[in-house]
Amino acid sequence: MPDWLTLYYEDPVELTHGEGRHVWDAEGRCYLDFYGGVLTTMTAHALPEVTAAVREQAGRILHTSTLYLNRPMVELAERIATLSGIPDARVFFTTSGTEANDTALLLATAYRRSNQILAMRNSYHGRSFSSVSITGNSAWSPTSLSPFQTLYVHGGVRTRGPFAELSDAAFTDACVADLEDVLGQAHGGAAALIAEPVQGVGGFTAPPDGLYAAFREVLDRHGILWISDEVQTGWGRTGDHFWGWQAHAASGPPDMLTFAKGIGNGMAVGGVVARAEVMNCLDAHSVSTFGGSPVTMAAGLANLTYLLEHDLQGNARRVGGLLIQRLRAVTAGLPVVREVRGRGLMIGVELAGPDGRPAPHAAGLALEHARAEGLLVGRGGREGNVLRIAPPLTLTVAEAEEGAELLGAALRRTQDAAEAERQP
Ligand code: PMP
Repeated sequence: MPDWLTLYYEDPVELTHGEGRHVWDAEGRCYLDFYGGVLTTMTAHALPEVTAAVREQAGRILHTSTLYLNRPMVELAERIATLSGIPDARVFFTTSGTEANDTALLLATAYRRSNQILAMRNSYHGRSFSSVSITGNSAWSPTSLSPFQTLYVHGGVRTRGPFAELSDAAFTDACVADLEDVLGQAHGGAAALIAEPVQGVGGFTAPPDGLYAAFREVLDRHGILWISDEVQTGWGRTGDHFWGWQAHAASGPPDMLTFAKGIGNGMAVGGVVARAEVMNCLDAHSVSTFGGSPVTMAAGLANLTYLLEHDLQGNARRVGGLLIQRLRAVTAGLPVVREVRGRGLMIGVELAGPDGRPAPHAAGLALEHARAEGLLVGRGGREGNVLRIAPPLTLTVAEAEEGAELLGAALRRTQDAAEAERQP
């Protein structure tokens, strides 16, 4: 395996099995899972409905390619097209979020006959050549070469930058003015703006509601498409909304949205939804071998059905609301915790040093301490100083309370260690 793959923990965890919101490692230790492998375990580990659907489909046919139809693929495409809110929608399945964004960029550049892309600062959209080259942070982009001319826009991050202290309305106005300024200075005719409604890898930071509606007015004047990267924010994760873009709903749906991660509950399902006019703009014919494979589609269908039937969006809102309160309570008075923020079951805990500067070292310690307490959380943010909490959407109140206590204990140990390190 390459050196550049991120591997959590000094002594990496080897996972052997999971159930509900818990996973076990090769040494038999049990962890409460507050990360779901970067939001991929959307509903629950070993959800019987998904397992049964996968078994059943695997026993029927594994053959895959888009040259032939299979029923789970057609059904899932129909369900997602309806749920997307995009009129006259078409769905193309991929096997990752990266490939979904790659496809969206291909469609946008072909449709608009332009390779100019507007992207948000601090953004992350995947690891292919095209997606790393629009990523707004060199830490997540190993190349400065690019098939695009990328223009970066303010708005995804509230906690830093020239607009950090502004009110929501003033922040939005400043970002819109910045977008106008960027467009004014560029060669005209950008293809698309791509944005995560809540930045994921960027540390679970969100702009004020309505920002993308305000952007949309500017984009529409120029005919520029809006791509909402819903890889982390889709499927009710943010509680109040099924898609992240709906926090900006005055603008109506985006022209395209991309999804992946949770929908397959661990199986490789991603995709793009676009208006037919945009989706069908490609001249050349194409085929996907693994996109839309019957087994992954059966998993996605069973998982989506479970999510909707059990109102897991509502659960994300209720239990997520409680979790954020509990996390604020257990971390109150810990100077290392600068902010606990989030929506639904997408919560970031930002760590800072006594000088207010980002504290990535403390985040590394907190990750280890949390593991020692029996809790898995993620990490993100531009400096790697944000703990990311995104448990499976079936999280119970008792588990939320337990996890908050465990993280509180881990952060108290982190605070003590940070203070001890500062002693002369
Ligand atoms: N978009 C976003 C917002 C993501 O968070 C990620 C993965 N972290 C991707 C795209 C890429 O998805 P994948 O890892 O499935 O390629």
